[in-house]
Amino acid sequence: MNPWFGKAAFLVCLVLMMLIRAPHGKRGGQVKIEESRKGRLEVALLALMWITTVVLPLMSIASPWLSFADYSFHWLPFLLGIVCAAMGLWLFYRSHADLGLNWSISLEIRQGHQLVTRGVYQRLRHPMYMSILLLGLAQACLLPNWISGPLGLPAFVLMFALRLRPEERMMLERFGDEYGAYCKRTKRLIPNAW
Ligand code: SAH
Repeated sequence: MNPWFGKAAFLVCLVLMMLIRAPHGKRGGQVKIEESRKGRLEVALLALMWITTVVLPLMSIASPWLSFADYSFHWLPFLLGIVCAAMGLWLFYRSHADLGLNWSISLEIRQGHQLVTRGVYQRLRHPMYMSILLLGLAQACLLPNWISGPLGLPAFVLMFALRLRPEERMMLERFGDEYGAYCKRTKRLIPNAW
């Protein structure tokens, strides 16, 4: 199968992600940050995510720099990639819509921050991270290159592993028993499992 089908689908997905996030970044910028836990580690993790999910894929699409790691493309990973991308984009959109002004790209508490427990947050505490995992799987399926395709996944695992505890600790310190009870009735990433 022509690899450009996969590359084009990945580019459409990237543009849609940016279009979904842009208005939230703009609106969020207008609400004061009350508390920030954006340390050096957070900045490094965000940079790693940006490099592995945007910079390397775009370089591998736009230039022959990573072409030594290309492999042939097939329709099965293409279909799998499209399914993961559609599910990931839907969840990315819904989690931004449900979090509203409480969303931050980093670990932050905003003025008037509210604990969101409805919509996609009703059963999962980290639906946005789940959407990023699905989009990472889509990237791995859609880009037939051993470097720019799969690298988003280990970057996500590292980001998630190092962010989960500090984020939940921050929420617990802010919302106390309300967050404790919310943790008891929800799962982290996978409904009814974990
Ligand atoms: N981990 C969540 C949110 C990611 S955005 C998810 O994957 O869906 C990160 C910011 O969202 C954090 O800085 C925190 O302030 C905020 N946040 C996380 N869970 C929240 C919730 N249930 N209600 C309100 N804000 C939340």
